[in-house]
Amino acid sequence: MIAPAVREALVELLGDRVAFDVPLSRHTALRIGGPADAVAEPADRDELLRCLRLCARAGLRHTVLGSGFNTLVLDGGVAGLVLRLVRLRGLEAKPEGALRIEAGVSHATLTNYCIRNGLTGLEFGAGIPGTVGGWTFMNAGIGSREMKDVLVEAEVASRDGAQLETLRAAELRPCYRVLAGLPDASVIVSVVVRVEAADPDVVRAEVERLRARRAATQPLDLPSCGSVFKNPPGDFAGRLIEAAGQKGARVGAAEISPVHANFIVNHGGARAADVLALVERARSAVLERFGVALEPEVRVIGRSA
Ligand SMILES: Cc1cc2nc3c(=O)[nH]c(=O)nc-3n(C[C@H](O)[C@H](O)[C@H](O)COP(=O)(O)OP(=O)(O)OC[C@H]3O[C@@H](n4cnc5c(N)ncnc54)[C@H](O)[C@@H]3O)c2cc1C
Repeated sequence: MIAPAVREALVELLGDRVAFDVPLSRHTALRIGGPADAVAEPADRDELLRCLRLCARAGLRHTVLGSGFNTLVLDGGVAGLVLRLVRLRGLEAKPEGALRIEAGVSHATLTNYCIRNGLTGLEFGAGIPGTVGGWTFMNAGIGSREMKDVLVEAEVASRDGAQLETLRAAELRPCYRVLAGLPDASVIVSVVVRVEAADPDVVRAEVERLRARRAATQPLDLPSCGSVFKNPPGDFAGRLIEAAGQKGARVGAAEISPVHANFIVNHGGARAADVLALVERARSAVLERFGVALEPEVRVIGRSA
């Protein structure tokens, strides 16, 4: 519950860019999640900072959500303010072979920009859905290529909105699917990544090749959150889950995908509790059969119903 005076202050600051009691199933790729007390979409970085300051003054907790492609929101929803940065969409070429990209730019927009402008370096992310903020926070990637290979620096707002500082990639300590050096509850506002000039047709061909490979190996026709578990060293979570006999296991409308065992899909109306039951089932089966403790890649937020 947000106190009436804080509600009013949010509306005064954000106008129709804030809404209350919003089902987060609208904002997650799995189409699952209970309500947030409030969801705000600041118009620009200045409004974002003012919003963070308001939250700090009011003692209102904030949670950042990109496009929700790697997030499972629990059925009881999220207390406080959920910040979506989808309106921060600046994308600017810098002179020395680099791009400055605001956190709300979608990775699809970025990939298409690189194709149009003949820029190479980011093709590996083709088909990794989400925003640049989420992509950076997760150090997203595939195989041996990750965001850390192209990240130069990130502009980061402190949790109370009092400071906006630039942190170099090394300070942010990108690790396997996490940015270990990002201060708690701070917000990535924009990033600078390295790119190089290239033939647009060559960039397009590589992007199309990678997208086609995903379409052939991943269940892209149903809502999911991508890989549920991180790959353990030297192996693949999907291979282990399949070998432990869990491919196709179902709880309610959630299923361990028959296409790719590291994906859980929502056939319509699944609850977070169903997904968590499958996560536990896959984890226990792999532990029992192979002695490997799988770690979740998906970020779980909120409270149980
Ligand atoms: C079909 C499919 C395939 C996928 N394939 C891959 C893959 O190959 N490789 C891979 O790495 N991932 C993959 N993913 C997962 C997902 O696409 C990535 O993790 C992506 O980076 C998530 O971006 P998002 O904006 O949706 O993040 P969200 O899910 O919204 O957020 C993820 C985390 O980032 C934090 N966050 C988001 N924005 C900010 C910000 N501006 N500042 C601070 N914190 C922030 C959130 O708080 C949350 O903890 C896949 C997902 C799907 C559905």
